[in-house]
Amino acid sequence: MLPELDLPTVLILHKLSFVVAGLCFIYVRSQSRESVGLGLLAVGFFLVALASILVGAGSLLQGRAYVFAMAGMLAGLFGYAVFWIGMCRISRQRKRNREWLVLALPVVICLLIIAAGLYDLPHSRTIAFQTTAAALLFASALTVRADNLTEPLPVRKPLAMSILIAAVLTLLVAVGIAFPLKAMNIARNAFFASIICHFAIAFFVMALVKERTEERLRGLVGLDVLTGVPNRHSFRSRLPETIRYGDAIVMIDIDHFKRINDTFGHLAGDEILARVARELFTRIRPVDSFARFGGEEFILYQPDIGKEEALAFADSLQKVVSSITHVMDDQTVTATLSMGIAVGDEKTSTAMSLLKKADMALYASKAAGRNRLTLYRAEDFVNEQFMRRNNDT
Ligand code: GH3
Ligand code: MG
Ligand code: MG
Repeated sequence: MLPELDLPTVLILHKLSFVVAGLCFIYVRSQSRESVGLGLLAVGFFLVALASILVGAGSLLQGRAYVFAMAGMLAGLFGYAVFWIGMCRISRQRKRNREWLVLALPVVICLLIIAAGLYDLPHSRTIAFQTTAAALLFASALTVRADNLTEPLPVRKPLAMSILIAAVLTLLVAVGIAFPLKAMNIARNAFFASIICHFAIAFFVMALVKERTEERLRGLVGLDVLTGVPNRHSFRSRLPETIRYGDAIVMIDIDHFKRINDTFGHLAGDEILARVARELFTRIRPVDSFARFGGEEFILYQPDIGKEEALAFADSLQKVVSSITHVMDDQTVTATLSMGIAVGDEKTSTAMSLLKKADMALYASKAAGRNRLTLYRAEDFVNEQFMRRNNDT
C-alpha cells in the first residue's frame, strides 16, 4: 500500500515542474534559434506556474480570495492556450492562420463563470479550469500526432502520448474535485503523476528539436554545396546494382568551362554552374536521379525510359541550357552541353558498366566537336583503348 501523498508538497512540486520544463524550453531555444514555438511553450508553462501561485496566495486572504483565484484562472488558461500555440508552431514549424484566436477562450470561460455567479465557488472554478486545460492539451497532442503525415519523426509518438496523459490526468483532477469524498485521492495522485508528464514533455520536445536537426543534416549531406542539387554520394545510394531493359544513364559535361572561368572569373563560373545544375534538376522526372558528378559534370539515371524517349529528353535538356543567356560583366555568354547516353539492353548489366558506357559516349561527343549527344552503341565502341586511340590521333 502506497503512503498517502502530502498535498501541499505535491502542489509545490507541481508548480516547480512547470518552471523547470519552461527553463528547459528556454535553454533549447537559445541553442536552436530556428526552432519556433519554444519560447511560447516556456511562456505557457510559466503562466500556469504563476496561476498556481496566485490561487495559493488568494487562499491565504480572507474574503477576497476569489479575485486572486479568477486572476489565477485567467493566467493559467492563457498559459495552456499559449502552450497550444507553441506546440502547433514547434510541431509544424510555422504559424497557423488565426492561431491567436484561441486566446479568446480563457476570457470567454472566465466571463461565463462570472456571469453564472460561480466565481466564488472554488470547486466550480477548478472543474471549469481543469476541463478547459485538458481540452487544450488534447488539441496539442492531436496536432503533434497529425503532423507526422507531413514530417514523420519517431519522437512524435512519445511526445503526443505524454501530452495526452497530461490531459487525462488534468481531467482526473477535475473528477477528484467534483467528487471529493470518493475521488480526492485520485486528484492527488493525478497531480503527482502530471509532474512526471511535464518533465516527459520537456524531454520529448528537446528530442524533437534534435531529431529534426539530424534529419536536416542527413538531407544536407546528400546535397552539393555550390549548386544545391544532389551530390555524387547520394546518387550512388539511389542507383540500383543492376540495370533493367530501357533504363538510361546520361553523362553531361559543360563545354569549354575552363574558358568561361578564365574569361569571367571563378565566381561567375560558379554562378553559371549553379544555374545550369538547377535548370537540369528541375526538368527531370520524379522517378529520375540526378547529381553533380564532379567539377562541371552531371549524371542522370532514368529508369524504364527507353532509348527513343531518353534521346529526346537529353536533346530537350541540351536545347534548354544552350538557350539561356548569362549576363556577366555586361557581356553575355551561353553554355553548351556535351552528353553521352547508354541504355540498358536485353543483357542485363550492372549500373557501373552502363555508367562507363555513357562516359565513353560523352567522350565521343567531346571528340566530335562538343555541344552534341552520343548514344552508346557497342559496334561504335569496341573498347576503351579504341576510344583513346581515336582521340589521340
Ligand atoms: P571540355 O569542353 O573539354 O569539357 O572543356 P572544359 O574546360 O569544360 O573541361 P576541363 O576538364 O578542361 O576543365 C573543367 C573546368 O571546370 C576546370 C575547373 O576549374 C572548372 N571547374 C570545376 N569545378 C568548378 C567549380 O566548382 N566552379 C568553377 N567556377 N569552376 C569549376
Ligand atoms: Mg567541360
Ligand atoms: Mg569535365
